[in-house]
Parts: sequence; structure tokens; C-alpha cells
Amino acid sequence: MCGFSADFLTLGENREYWLCPQCRAISVPAELHISPDDEVKRYLEHENSLESEGYVRMFQEKIDILQTYPIKSALDYGCGYEPVLKILLTRLGIEADGYDPNFFPEIRLDKRYDLVISTETFEHFRNPAEEIQRIIDRVVPGGYLAIMTRFYPTEDNRFQPDKFANWYYKRDPTHIIFYCTKTFQWLAENIGFKMVFNNDHDFVVLKKPLPTPVGKG
Ligand SMILES: [Zn+2]
Repeated sequence: MCGFSADFLTLGENREYWLCPQCRAISVPAELHISPDDEVKRYLEHENSLESEGYVRMFQEKIDILQTYPIKSALDYGCGYEPVLKILLTRLGIEADGYDPNFFPEIRLDKRYDLVISTETFEHFRNPAEEIQRIIDRVVPGGYLAIMTRFYPTEDNRFQPDKFANWYYKRDPTHIIFYCTKTFQWLAENIGFKMVFNNDHDFVVLKKPLPTPVGKG
């Protein structure tokens, strides 16, 4: 994710996992990714609809946290084929758009949002640095970037090989990059955002700074 060269970490699921010593992201090498066509097929098998109670509840918890921030507009980046979150946000009076490279590829490049939220999307990034740049460009100054993805198992910020070996989240072949608190701390620092929420489990919120007023010299 940061461009630093990763070290081989472990094997599993007929794949290799590499750990970056700088940003602590764990990724699967590109030659072991599934094809984009197979990836889309897998997404269509996911049951991500308003009828799926667990799915909506998971979103609702995150929305409750986000409601403490002043948000009038939102972009759901990587919304999937059913833009559930967009519907939930709209119900709260937030003007929401959805973007998904496979299902809703139209993106208004001139538009910025108080909130850009990405749920269950970061773990699919083939080019995280590029995608993340595209995302942070869509956030207004003073706005928020919310990321939901399952963090890989750590204890006191240390990688846990036994827990990782049995970790369900990496068994999905479309999941090719994994993050932890350290990764998001690195990201926040690198892009100049401030971490304003982190549950150390599956959700972080980063705030984009307002431009510093230029004083008269
Ligand atoms: Zn890195």
C-alpha cells in the first residue's frame, strides 16, 4: 500500500501473504489474485440487501457513530450492486451517491462530499495507493473518510500467526489486502488526516484538515 517492499509472511488458501514492515498492511501478490470476471461473480453471490438483517445492523452501528459528525452529503465508495448504505443515509436526510467500479461506475469528479464511506471495499483493492488517493480527493476539507474493513488479528499491535492461520476473513479469494490499526495510523499520517475514531476491530474515521488560513506576512 505504501510502496515499500513487503516481506513474505505465511501461506494459506493456496496463496501467499506478505507483510509490509512500514505500513503493516498484509497483501496477496498480484499473480495470485483471481480474475476480475471471477471477482464480479463472487460479489453477485454476496447477500448484501436491505432484506438481510445482519447486513443492515452492521451498517446501522457505523451510521450511529457517523451521526455525531456534521454530515450533509456522502459518497458510498464501493457500494456493490445494491447500494444499501446510500438508501440508509438518504433516509437520514443525507444527500448520498453510490460509486462502484463494477456496478455503478459513474463518478462525478467535480463533486466532493462531507463524508466518503467505504465499507467492505478496502480489502479488495488491487492498487490501494491509487484507489485511496481517488477517495481522499472526494472529501471536502474538514470532511470525513470512514473505512470499514475487518482488521487482521493483532495483540498489542503484534501480528498473531496462529489467529491469522484460522482467520475466516482471508478465505474469501476476493480479499487481497488486510489492515490493522497501525496501517490506518500510517495512512492518516501519510495523507495528513487525523484519526478521530478507531474501534481497533473493523472501523476507522479519518478527518481531512481544513486549510490553514494564510496570515498576512
Ligand atoms: Zn506498506
